[in-house]
Amino acid sequence: MMNASHDQNSSNKVPGYSIIKPLKGQKALVTGASSGIGKAVAVALGQAGASVVINYRSNEKGAAEAVKAIKDCGSEAFAFGADVSQPADVQAMFKAMFDAYGTVDILVSNSGIQQDAAFDEMTLAQWQIVIDVNLTGQFLCAREAVKEFKRRGVVPEVSRAVGKIICMSSVHEVIPWAGHVNYAASKGGVMLMMKSMAQELAPLKIRVNSIGPGAIKTPINTAAWSTPEAEQELLKLIPAKRVGEPEDIGPAAVWLASDESDYVNGTTLFVDGGMLLYPGFEDGG
Ligand code: NAD
Repeated sequence: MMNASHDQNSSNKVPGYSIIKPLKGQKALVTGASSGIGKAVAVALGQAGASVVINYRSNEKGAAEAVKAIKDCGSEAFAFGADVSQPADVQAMFKAMFDAYGTVDILVSNSGIQQDAAFDEMTLAQWQIVIDVNLTGQFLCAREAVKEFKRRGVVPEVSRAVGKIICMSSVHEVIPWAGHVNYAASKGGVMLMMKSMAQELAPLKIRVNSIGPGAIKTPINTAAWSTPEAEQELLKLIPAKRVGEPEDIGPAAVWLASDESDYVNGTTLFVDGGMLLYPGFEDGG
């Protein structure tokens, strides 16, 4: 992996890829990029030289901040409001991207929501909206990207791949999650959607992979880390004894989008401080 600084918030440190710019000339779309992980990923791609479309649903202010951060590091960006679960919105978003940038090289399907409930109290609406945004939204965006990848073909001076898709999954693509059955089902679905797409599309030089974050401090899970008591409980699940920051995910996305990972197909890169390492066995079980 590239030698990227962990602490991108620190003014005297810049990530290595902001100097090397491995994504120069590439066009990226990041969904749900007005906050949290999506925003950090979009800024990292911009630092790495990509032009970035910032998708947001309602948080225009957050989207504008992401656009500014990317422009400040010398790359192009614009914001586009769209609901990823709606086919017409998704098509309009890709059309706006093609009008502005001509094509897409990198899709990061990041939008996601939680609607938690005890299993027998979960409404069909709670089930449906989580599947619609977290799984169907990724399908709709990937479908538009793949159509364009196939139309355009490889441009060797831009990338060895025809296109790259990065699905934002979760450790919950493999860890069951009581009280969050809709969310875990959506991420389990993302895992096999991603792998099946990767198998189908690898011969066309389209690379499809996922990032599986562990616990990252964002608006989606504020209750899990915003008090010292909650954070202590959460740390019991994290061998690295640190709750992750959105900036932990950006470098992983840059690497998966770059030619440095050209031989990586159909894998989930877990960025989780070891959450998948059965932390209950830390003291010998
Ligand atoms: P977040 O709430 O900050 O980000 C979610 C984003 O999705 C927001 O920008 C929101 O506007 C967008 N979104 C929601 N519904 C949308 C819709 N219909 N259309 C378009 N955009 C929509 O939370 P986050 O933690 O940054 O989540 C980003 C992704 O990371 C999600 O897929 C989430 O499941 C995943 N994830 C997060 C964690 C974590 O600990 N924070 C862990 C594992 C996976």
